[in-house]
Amino acid sequence: MKNYRAELTGVFGDPVDDNPTGVVEEAAFAAKKLNYRYLTVKVRPEDLQKAMDSVRIFGMKGINLTMPHKIKVIPYLDELSPAAEIIGAVNTVIQKDGKLYGENTDGKGFVIALKNSGETLEGKTVTILGAGGAARAIAVECALNGAAHINIVNRSSEKGMELAVLIREKTGSSAKYLNWTGNLTIPADTDILINATSIGFSPNVNDRPDIDYSSLTGKMCVCDVIFNPAQTLFLKAAAENGAKTVTGLGMLVQQAALNFTLWTGEEAPVDVMEEALKREL
Ligand code: NDP
Repeated sequence: MKNYRAELTGVFGDPVDDNPTGVVEEAAFAAKKLNYRYLTVKVRPEDLQKAMDSVRIFGMKGINLTMPHKIKVIPYLDELSPAAEIIGAVNTVIQKDGKLYGENTDGKGFVIALKNSGETLEGKTVTILGAGGAARAIAVECALNGAAHINIVNRSSEKGMELAVLIREKTGSSAKYLNWTGNLTIPADTDILINATSIGFSPNVNDRPDIDYSSLTGKMCVCDVIFNPAQTLFLKAAAENGAKTVTGLGMLVQQAALNFTLWTGEEAPVDVMEEALKREL
């Protein structure tokens, strides 16, 4: 018998129109000849519960959550992964046997991209700019992957301090909050520096975090979560100081690849996904 019914996945967000994940996932579904669709759906905050009911009603394989739903979705889920539990935010839901399981692949995607660039985390000192959703996920995964110490730097001190406490209490890793006054000197023992703020994202491509760029050295690996543009002013300045750089593209592709596998049970065609993203940006 023919099957005209597609398996459904997608993303709920508001705003969501400029989210490129659908292009990446659809390219992967096509490459693997899977009858899956990825829907980019605008869901207003007040409609999130009904939208999550629809995931169950439509028997969707799963859904991504983006701003502003990553935290608010948690009461509508049946179970959380250990990392999602610590982070307190979910970017991927998987539906299995009628149950909704919450995972956070942002930090995991970052760690895979970092390792693919040849870096390791064991025993390293990591300095993270930002304490929002992306920074929380990255900080937790860096700690769970063996980082020795994590410095959190954030404009709003309360949020930054809270994240440092979370890392210390929930992962056992050493972590400290550093005040972000202008022209911040990056601690000299930093091995890996990550911009996990939204500074520099298109169209604000001429913005960069307010740090003392002369404190960056050739022994540091400097990473950005911003993927549009891939070569941010932050990364360009780091490269001029001799640092190795890692763009946000790898993180985006790797978290999409993890989602693909969680939903389909198949290995993700990472090269196809990367090409699709590059064509789109
Ligand atoms: P949030 O809104 O949760 O956090 C934003 C962070 O940026 C906060 O720490 C905020 O500080 C800081 N920030 C914003 N503007 C400034 C500024 N002018 N000066 C200093 N700090 C500032 O966003 P997310 O964490 O969800 O996302 C952050 C970025 O990461 C986005 O650009 C997003 O597109 C990107 N991203 C990339 C991914 C990838 O796969 N490559 C995946 C997920 C996100 P404060 O707390 O003081 O407001």
